[in-house]
Amino acid sequence: MKRILLIDDDVVFRFGLAKLLAGEGWHVFEAEDGEKGLKLAMQYRPEAIVCDLHMPRCNGFQVCRSLRAQDGTLGKTKIVITTSSLYPSDRETALECGADSYLIKPINQLELLAILNQFNEAEAARNNASNPGAVTRSQKTKFKFWGVRGSLPTPGPSTVHYGGNTSCVEVRTEGQVIILDAGTGIRELGLQLAGEFKNQPLSLTILISHTHWDHIQGFPFFAPAYNPRNSLHVLAYEGARKGLEATLSSQMESPYFPISMQQMPSNISFLELKDLSFKIGNVRVEAIFVNHPGVCVGYRLFTQEGSIAYVPDNELFQRLKAQDTTGSNPGGEHVQDFALRQDQKLTQFIKGADVLIMDSQYDEDEYPKHIGWGHSCADDSVALAVGAEVKNLFLFHHDPMHDDAKISQMASRAQELVARLGGKMKVEAAREGMEIELPVPGPGNG
Ligand SMILES: [Zn+2]
Ligand SMILES: [Zn+2]
Repeated sequence: MKRILLIDDDVVFRFGLAKLLAGEGWHVFEAEDGEKGLKLAMQYRPEAIVCDLHMPRCNGFQVCRSLRAQDGTLGKTKIVITTSSLYPSDRETALECGADSYLIKPINQLELLAILNQFNEAEAARNNASNPGAVTRSQKTKFKFWGVRGSLPTPGPSTVHYGGNTSCVEVRTEGQVIILDAGTGIRELGLQLAGEFKNQPLSLTILISHTHWDHIQGFPFFAPAYNPRNSLHVLAYEGARKGLEATLSSQMESPYFPISMQQMPSNISFLELKDLSFKIGNVRVEAIFVNHPGVCVGYRLFTQEGSIAYVPDNELFQRLKAQDTTGSNPGGEHVQDFALRQDQKLTQFIKGADVLIMDSQYDEDEYPKHIGWGHSCADDSVALAVGAEVKNLFLFHHDPMHDDAKISQMASRAQELVARLGGKMKVEAAREGMEIELPVPGPGNG
């Protein structure tokens, strides 16, 4: 039988709750203050504790801290703090001290039962999953575009087909939700996750390609970051100036935003990546530094159903070096050799990828006006992908100046170019809301 400990000096409250929980199949223990509560917790190791905040001898904050300092099962006991305090700072402190949930008295008993139920479900999911804390609902690998635009969100009637949100791609694989970049598209993704998983604790990984605004601007609006049951792991390479956490939190500082990152109640961890190869659960990830102002990478995720390469911002070298007149010896032979070798590194990185999501911001006429802006001509991205025997290319990071008609035109041109190059690759323009399961049906794999 599941065990629960009620710690509260209000005997009427405690009695009512004990009756309710016993009726729900819990074995209930009761304590009238924090000290006695801690003793009972050590003795009976309950799965859950409902604890008052203000009590004689040992308050709820201290109870949480003492329990979290314990090894083994007691450190994992779920704690619900109940209190009459309406102050947000008390709630924050309780969660910091290790509480899992916080309810204001008079509590809604159904809400408490729902929370306890979620703890049980989460525990069961953890026990079943090979990967603790991961989302287990989806088995097959799939990905979805939540933001496909580069530079700046461009809502409006001329972009409704491809969408106006900036970079964000969700990948579900091997029980993981991996989010590629936190552009404004992540807001809608957050709402979807919150609706789909309700209050089930989520463990999400956000891989940031670089910290330009169009790749991080949606983060303050990501609903799962406001749920204290969720854990967010933000991974990126060290930027050019400040550390990752400082860069992300500074966009939320006053006067830019009303809530600081420290006030976001979820458990957010930051990891500045060092190695170019690492794992997220069972998913192997490789990264490559690309040609873009500051520190920017592309990622490739290897799943059982195929690999997904994501290179959202990149200026390919060959056209850049051929057209740039500012460098030393522009157009010289050794400059061209250098450019070729640099692009070949990327070819190697994306070699044989099932899916490539790649910067294709400009067309042939636009590129000469944007040399050195850090983005590629679509023709070059297509040619590189064909050369690397990529199976499916998605033109990505659409220019804010491009309306739906222009993007469709660029996609058609890309398809013609693939045919001219004798490639089998499928190519289309990434569109917000597009969801694709791996393996992608196409000429490469039937
Ligand atoms: Zn960008
Ligand atoms: Zn950028």
